[in-house]
Amino acid sequence: GALHNAFTFQKAQEQAITDGMTGLKTHRFFMEALSGEWKRSTRAGRSFSLVLMDLDRFKFVNDFYGHLDGDLVLQRVAHLLELNCRRSDVVARYGGDEFVILMPETDSEQGLQLASKLRAWICSDPVLREKNVTSSLGVATFPESGRTADLLLVNADAALYRAKNSGRNRVVMASA
Ligand code: GH3
Ligand code: MG
Repeated sequence: GALHNAFTFQKAQEQAITDGMTGLKTHRFFMEALSGEWKRSTRAGRSFSLVLMDLDRFKFVNDFYGHLDGDLVLQRVAHLLELNCRRSDVVARYGGDEFVILMPETDSEQGLQLASKLRAWICSDPVLREKNVTSSLGVATFPESGRTADLLLVNADAALYRAKNSGRNRVVMASA
């Protein structure tokens, strides 16, 4: 009936917004939020920042401790991100062991600062420390790291790639 359909619709809506394993926002929700933030910031002449984070050698964590412990690590990381970000930030699971944080009204200096704090929190958390979990992060800021949402993502990803290749457990700012 109609009521059942309404429930099913609501459930589907929730699943589109919330990542089932971590409780964070989904990739899809993040993409919508990024698009909205880009429009608002362009109109208002404001900055915003994007932080892309990927866990280091996470395959090893799965192989050594098992997939269930791997899942617990992802949940713990998600919890730490939620705990340490502002209410206005969008914290999402980008996919697999990759996370993204959209920070409205945040310049490159503030973006870099938050990314550095997140990196430090991850590697000093007692639960994650036990398994030597660390993370690499790439930061991109509108407009200097890219004038479109797509370019910002590409450049944040390139910065993350450089963080990985220069030794992991570090933060790299996207170049202009
Ligand atoms: P790198 O430092 O280069 O990132 O090495 P990595 O081993 O972390 O490699 P990569 O990021 O490419 O691999 C991510 C791994 O995360 C692959 C997959 O086995 C694991 N993974 C993805 N989703 C899940 C999940 O939901 N649960 C668990 N336990 N593991 C997952
Ligand atoms: Mg990884």
